Amino acid sequence: MRTVYVNGDYLPEDEARISVFDRGFLFADGVYEVTSVLDGKLVDFPGHAARLQRSMDELAMEAEIDMDDLLEIHRELIRRNDLTEGLIYLQVTRGAADRDFLYPASETPPTIVLFTQSKPGLAESPMAKTGMKIVTIPDRRWGRRDIKTVQLLYPSMGKMEAKRAGADDAWMVEDGHVTEGTSNNAYIVKDGVIVTRHLGEEILHGITRKAVLAFAREAQMKVEERPFTVEEALAADEAFVTSASSFVMPVVEIDGQTIGAGTPGATVARLREIYLDEMRKAAI
Ligand code: PMP
Repeated sequence: MRTVYVNGDYLPEDEARISVFDRGFLFADGVYEVTSVLDGKLVDFPGHAARLQRSMDELAMEAEIDMDDLLEIHRELIRRNDLTEGLIYLQVTRGAADRDFLYPASETPPTIVLFTQSKPGLAESPMAKTGMKIVTIPDRRWGRRDIKTVQLLYPSMGKMEAKRAGADDAWMVEDGHVTEGTSNNAYIVKDGVIVTRHLGEEILHGITRKAVLAFAREAQMKVEERPFTVEEALAADEAFVTSASSFVMPVVEIDGQTIGAGTPGATVARLREIYLDEMRKAAI
């Protein structure tokens, strides 16, 4: 049984409790982060801590969270759960208060929950060798996708739709352009140029995206941050996604059409290798 963290306590998972009045439960008034663990160490913790603070600021969540304490909680969970490879999920909500649309008094304590998910083979994923199949769906999410809130119903519906269609995931499309995947950022490669949507309110500012684009530029690869259409994606040489849980993952089929040779391309393979090597070295 796992040990989880709830509001200052480390507890067996079946003894952990939060209130029925928690605003995360009633209003999806909460934000989250998922940090990967390789060799028992955290990948890009500072990136996730910074984005957590930004999400909270954008929602005027005033709770003070000490990022050094948060790092210690992550490490303690790794120790207590003997985690070598997997993920740590962190959620912060505006806390519990009688149900009211208006935010509760600012001194209402936040709810802070963390738990681990063991994923042996995360880095040696078979899908990195075969590639993923994607379907496209309309992007019906709200307008502040740059805030990492726990409102994940539409992405969940999208993954179910992909599964029904025999695919592995969905890319979301708005005004003819791909925004991002249901839980990852989306990329194509054409004539040696890596194309991914620019940052804005329409997509989550992926922590993996930031690192991968920096590594790509360091390796003298060309990068264009702009919207791309589904037609462009279908005509691309390569496609891939990035996220903390999949790192860099090739896409070999979109809406039933093969991309490039139908097998993971050289650019994505190289980026995955660089990313994993560098992030393992920098993990804390
Ligand atoms: N976009 C969405 C919608 C996501 O849910 C995620 C994963 N949290 C990402 C992109 C990738 O972000 P990161 O690289 O920080 O995991």
